Amino acid sequence: MSSLLYTPVEDISKIQEELRAGFRSGKTKNVAFRKEQLLQLAYLIQDNQQRFRDSLHADLGRPPTETDLFEIFVTLNEVRCAYDKVAKWAKQESAPFSFNWFAMSPAIRKEPKGVVLVISPFNYPIFLLLTPLVGAIAAGCAAVLKPSEQAPATAALLTELLPRYLDPTLYRIVNGGVPETTRLLELPWDHIMYTGNGRVARIVAAAAAKHLTPVSTELGGKSPVVIDPKCDLKTAAKRIFWGKVANAGQICLAPDYVLVPRTFQDKFIEALKEVHDSFFPSGPRVSDSFSRIISEQHTQRIKKLIDETQGKIVLGGEVDVAQKYIAPTIVRDVPENDSLMSEELFGPVLPIIPVEDLDDAIRIINNHDHPLALYVFSQDSKFKAKVFDNTQSGSAIANEVVIHAGADGLPVGGVGPSGTGYYSGKYGFDMFTHFRATMDSPGWLDWVLGGRYPPYTADSLNV
Ligand code: NAD
Repeated sequence: MSSLLYTPVEDISKIQEELRAGFRSGKTKNVAFRKEQLLQLAYLIQDNQQRFRDSLHADLGRPPTETDLFEIFVTLNEVRCAYDKVAKWAKQESAPFSFNWFAMSPAIRKEPKGVVLVISPFNYPIFLLLTPLVGAIAAGCAAVLKPSEQAPATAALLTELLPRYLDPTLYRIVNGGVPETTRLLELPWDHIMYTGNGRVARIVAAAAAKHLTPVSTELGGKSPVVIDPKCDLKTAAKRIFWGKVANAGQICLAPDYVLVPRTFQDKFIEALKEVHDSFFPSGPRVSDSFSRIISEQHTQRIKKLIDETQGKIVLGGEVDVAQKYIAPTIVRDVPENDSLMSEELFGPVLPIIPVEDLDDAIRIINNHDHPLALYVFSQDSKFKAKVFDNTQSGSAIANEVVIHAGADGLPVGGVGPSGTGYYSGKYGFDMFTHFRATMDSPGWLDWVLGGRYPPYTADSLNV
């Protein structure tokens, strides 16, 4: 596994200048060129699937099945969708017919914004770097990609592969930590897409404001799950627990905490324990199907939250900081002001908050920032509607978790503190596209529009 070399800070503005020259050459205006680059990106992923599995195993102890599911298949699907649809997306669009305006041929040109910056986090270092790139390529932009330094094996692999498959005058990787990203953020970009935590998002947005650069932020938060006792309990427990242990809980859309009627808590926990035993028959520590936390620092952070909980740990609780291991952990009777409710957990710990009724659950949800996702498990359409109609969140999902991020045609994005802007499919294309209004007004129209010219008279506008 090659080690990650940081990009010299003094080279960063030169890289941007090279990409600006590449963009100004005009080659990305050609949709056939964009399709060829998208195809190359598909080859990059396909040809190197095993190497990606290995790099993710090195970075996160990630099981290969999860890398296939969450990185390879979904990213390839994004590439395929953009390849098939980019010609349609990029086509000039006529404005809807209007009797007053049609003679001027009002239309919208879809133009690339220019040279864009994509900054991504460690938890899905392929999908979260290359999916924005798909949008940028499809839109005709040049792009600098900044992978997370916390997943160094995958960042090094992408750095090796990108110039072998894609046009290096248009698409480049800059590696590094805070100093390198700070330098990137000092430069003017035509759009910045940042995926990661809200603290850094504020730094990114403040830096972008200096140049009036548009920014999209894809963030996280505490995504709640509301349980209706009338749900399909086995399926609910299986899906929720899977959403919490996949990638050891390091998923922006992971169910963060569960709101369950007090009288149903025991039954729900029993169902979760059964799922745990079926997923990890010899225990999670020795299982090939369970990832590790990205760093000792994050392991320590989550350990502290577990140590300080006022709830009762009914499953797991073991932490080995040196091994970056946290057992899947379930905590019951968690109060609203608990340590486990103080921040996004981003680890395999599931707090369960008992509630009196649905209104109580909705009140608790609304006491927190708008989450990236909100999950409801229920067979009752009125129950589901009541939750969705009385809350706000990036997405509102019934009887499923996490996988909606890969669903064709759905936007991925938060609201308020969970993010601004949308990507995936056409939404990714739109993010990096300038919708340039255009019209062409024939001279004969002044026969009807002549009244706009001075000198104005009482009946100037009576045509
Ligand atoms: P991270 O630590 O890898 O950081 C993300 C990026 O920010 C990295 O490229 C890093 O180099 C850069 N960075 C860090 N500090 C910086 C600074 N001071 N100035 C400039 N850049 C800096 O990952 P993270 O932020 O811990 O990622 C986890 C978060 O991301 C969670 O909150 C999760 O919910 C969220 N997330 C959101 C989505 C989404 O699509 N909405 C997807 C995945 C993760």
